[in-house]
Amino acid sequence: MPSTAIRTCPLCEATCGLELTLEGTEVTRVRGDRDDVFSRGYLCPKGALFGEFEHDPDRLTTPRVRRDGELVEATWAEAYAHIADRLPAIQAEHGHDAVAVYLGNPNVHNLSGQLYVRPLVKALRTRNVHSASSVDQLPKHVSCGELFGDPLAIPVPDVDRTDLLVVLGANPRVSNGSLMTAPDLPGRLDALRDRGGRLVVIDPKRTRTAAKADEHLAILPGTDALLLSAVVATLIQEELIALPDHLDGLVKGMDEVLDQLRWFTAGRVAPTCGLEAERIRELARALATTPRACVYGRLGTTTQPYGTLASWLVDVVNLLTGHLDVDGGAMFPHPAHHRTRRRPFRTGRWHSRVRGLPEAIGELPVATLTDEITTPGDGQVRALITVAGNPVLSTPDGEALDAAIADLDLLVCVDPYVTATSRHADVILPPPSALQRPHYDLAFSALAIRNVANYSPPVVAPDPNVPDEWELLLTLAAIALGQQPPIDTAAADAFVLRQAVDGVIADPTARLATHDPDELLAALGERPGPDRLLDLLLRAGPYGDGFGLDPDGLSLAELRDHPHGIDLGPLQPRLPEALRTASGHIELAPAAFVADLTRLAGEVEPATAAEAPPSDAAGDGLSDGATLTLIGRRHLRTNNSWSHNVAGLAKGQQLCTLQLHPDDATCRGLVDGGTARVTSTTGSLEVTVEVTDDLRPGVVSLPHGFGHDLPGVEQTVARANPGVNSNVLTDRHALDPISGNAVLNGIPVEVAPA
Ligand code: SF4
Repeated sequence: MPSTAIRTCPLCEATCGLELTLEGTEVTRVRGDRDDVFSRGYLCPKGALFGEFEHDPDRLTTPRVRRDGELVEATWAEAYAHIADRLPAIQAEHGHDAVAVYLGNPNVHNLSGQLYVRPLVKALRTRNVHSASSVDQLPKHVSCGELFGDPLAIPVPDVDRTDLLVVLGANPRVSNGSLMTAPDLPGRLDALRDRGGRLVVIDPKRTRTAAKADEHLAILPGTDALLLSAVVATLIQEELIALPDHLDGLVKGMDEVLDQLRWFTAGRVAPTCGLEAERIRELARALATTPRACVYGRLGTTTQPYGTLASWLVDVVNLLTGHLDVDGGAMFPHPAHHRTRRRPFRTGRWHSRVRGLPEAIGELPVATLTDEITTPGDGQVRALITVAGNPVLSTPDGEALDAAIADLDLLVCVDPYVTATSRHADVILPPPSALQRPHYDLAFSALAIRNVANYSPPVVAPDPNVPDEWELLLTLAAIALGQQPPIDTAAADAFVLRQAVDGVIADPTARLATHDPDELLAALGERPGPDRLLDLLLRAGPYGDGFGLDPDGLSLAELRDHPHGIDLGPLQPRLPEALRTASGHIELAPAAFVADLTRLAGEVEPATAAEAPPSDAAGDGLSDGATLTLIGRRHLRTNNSWSHNVAGLAKGQQLCTLQLHPDDATCRGLVDGGTARVTSTTGSLEVTVEVTDDLRPGVVSLPHGFGHDLPGVEQTVARANPGVNSNVLTDRHALDPISGNAVLNGIPVEVAPA
């Protein structure tokens, strides 16, 4: 007899509600949950194939351990024993920094990953913590950390109420949103236009979002910070600056910012951006005069040499045009769970050993992980633990990292697959299926364009012989602390809970500051695992019951009673309450950002940078006949490197192609369907050509996350259609200097027939 279950889709940031039909433990049908308070039945092709993700025959169900050079099946006890034999010895001999961690993107889609990776990292006591954040979004965390004092206080566009949305370096019709959680973004963008609003897309490519926009500006890659500076310069020149009333007096450093940015006139920067100066001025005027408007920047603005400046300037423009923290502008979500008040933000609390790169949000740039493994000396990385990550495909200079990882003394991968990275593992620990674990989006509810809370209980009973993911991570943590397995994970979890309770009570902004921690622990009960921790965070959160303070408030029990979620209403202005800066103000002019404007000014073409009257002509962006500029792209049917083994998604389509403009193809003798050799200063690869006028001349595009044909990869579908690893071409030494984020867009390449 089939059964039905409701749960939140964990496959991307949109958090759609799914209605699953199950025969036993098998998902036989997936539909959008029409009663979900946020997604209202929306479903994309990935969500529709959620069952295929879960029932993939290549998924590992037992650990693997390397014996005599081969990865062979092992029991959990054998796998843990293997790690316990080697990890503490490496720590003892080489120090804690000799063990590095890499955390992949799926961790943020996983409640246990969000709650139990941190105890693992703390137990390892290593400074070599890396994650997908530094190939993706670190500049936004750093810019918000400096501006608002909290790297997680990221304003999101109030898409449902805005009348002008300017999308910069993002393709939300395909990605379904990023650093902006909004199920059914295609429908929401259609609604924006249906109510008379305008959508402007600024992107080197006519993406699917750009094709359906009111206007598309085909900017040259990596020039977003210049464009945004010119918008500010226009606001200054035309006296269009108007802060939101409630922020007047709350902004520090405005005069300094205006002084620095007035030089970047539209006339000066337009040729470098490949745009017409007047069009930039019109954009500034439209943003200033539309009562509800917003700029939203994403991957194209962060994965480039000016990632932090571009991220900062997005919020500077929103502020100066009166659209920060107001309805229809860029607003701060207020999620249901408690978020511990952070100390005022700063970077550089420690630096990487080899290249001296600064820490940010507790991490070092992953672009330097290869250097830390291959460079001898005190603190050299000898062991690596990856959790849900495939850095060989996801991070720059992938071939060098692949070779470095192969030489480690120990590689432990928490991963359901033998991937390009985990093929080198000494131990692979496969986590249980998403169907067997509870789900609540700690990360994405803090980025949602509407305040909502949604909890999904496990759909399928856990296998008593397989550790839950939280048990797996706490076992690794205990081994890192020198304990021998088997580990009493319930006791370890009680310790984690006690720390979380103490953290909530110690938070001066929490409502529970006067509560007795033992009373809270008693109220939370004896059940170990993520549900108990989540209950604490919900009850201590802004809508929570406060353990008796508000009997009608939220708790996990209340959320369980609402399987389609609870709508907590539209976003509300949150400043100054959300500010965490030491001054209590918006710090608009962080010294490092202002200093970096000199480097940005150096990008302006000499002909217009001089004091001579600026030209209004747009640069043509045409290639010089040799060098083209490589950018990435996203496809609706993929998600980074982790969706390529789903047969229904792949459908045998060739998604990994080099897209280029017909003019660039013709002058190189390249034809659609032919093979091109693409060469950068770092590496070279051969790839199928796709000729399209969606790209502006001089720019070529290759998607990321492919390259599944390395020896030992056990992903049948992905291997059959492997594509190429775009990170063979990216340079691990090319970074946004403020955040340390890798430069994955705007890579100079030469392209020729293979
Ligand atoms: S848009 Fe994202 S969350 Fe929604 S169904 Fe697709 S993959 Fe799942």
